[in-house]
Amino acid sequence: MSKKKGRVFSGARPTGRQHLGNYLGAIRNYVELQAEYDCVYCIVDLHAMTTLDQLHRIRLNTAEMALDWLAAGLRPEETILFVQSHVPQVTELHTILSMFTPLGKLTDLPTFKDKVRLQPQNINYGLVGYPVLMTADITLYKADVVPVGVDQESHLEFAREVVRTFHYRTGRQVLIEPQMKNTEFPKVLGTDGKRKMGKSEDNQIELALTPKETEKVVRTMVTDPQRQRRDDPGDPDVCNVFTLHKSFSSSDDISMIDRECRKAGIGCVDCKNLLAKRLNEHLQPFRERRSELAKDPQYVWEVLEDGARRATIVAAETIAEVKAAAGLT
Ligand code: ADP
Repeated sequence: MSKKKGRVFSGARPTGRQHLGNYLGAIRNYVELQAEYDCVYCIVDLHAMTTLDQLHRIRLNTAEMALDWLAAGLRPEETILFVQSHVPQVTELHTILSMFTPLGKLTDLPTFKDKVRLQPQNINYGLVGYPVLMTADITLYKADVVPVGVDQESHLEFAREVVRTFHYRTGRQVLIEPQMKNTEFPKVLGTDGKRKMGKSEDNQIELALTPKETEKVVRTMVTDPQRQRRDDPGDPDVCNVFTLHKSFSSSDDISMIDRECRKAGIGCVDCKNLLAKRLNEHLQPFRERRSELAKDPQYVWEVLEDGARRATIVAAETIAEVKAAAGLT
């Protein structure tokens, strides 16, 4: 890989078809980072196993997600796009790094406590070790930089600590201590206008919908709850339809809605129809590319296989250095 400003690593669990939240909160940034960094993007299927009870969905979800990423502009000829479990060295590094990780630190993490609360019937061993596996993901591919939102900062700080402990105890500086690239990730609300857009909330707008499906789902969006009738003035500042307009519509549209909604000059139905139109315009090139790529179901697996091959070259080098440092030769 040619060196740009450094190497970025990011992973996401295979959640299937991507929605506007994934797009605005992650994918758009993934695409932009390619201009400045060597990028390694991983579909973290092992992480998914800690929470997913429908294991049979992993394969399909992986293919759908990779297809969305590629259609959105990830360039596999320069970016490494692969599946976590296709490079088994990550489990080896995870085991080694786990010996340098105090258990109390893991069980104290707020994210672990959240998971315990959310799935008391499935507090598995992998759930505790999740941040160690994440540290292995980042360090195995010699990433310099990891894009993180505020809620993920503690995980990256954790990874940095594990690296420092490894270096201190082995006396060898073989891993890269990853830097945070703080990015303002918007929190996109779902069609209910209340909760974060997400599959589990069933409030998502998928990128790959048809224009008609997009119109239909946008029509179900909850607007300003105070606005009961067409003639009531609305408050765009509390309306998620307006928030999405800010990401997909022109500045003229945005100021028109801002002005007209407040004096009931535009109704919610008109406003939603305009949003659906703008979304369909914005997503048209993505959708065309996606259908083109989907014509060959093998293509996406070939990309992921090639990504795993390139990722393995870096992984093999790192694991050899780590084992030598840890005395495992
Ligand atoms: P993961 O569990 O790997 O975070 P998700 O599908 O929840 O998988 O998220 C993948 C990426 O998309 C993450 O970077 C996440 O922050 C982003 N994302 C997901 N939903 C939203 C949302 N509603 N608003 C903003 N970003 C989101």
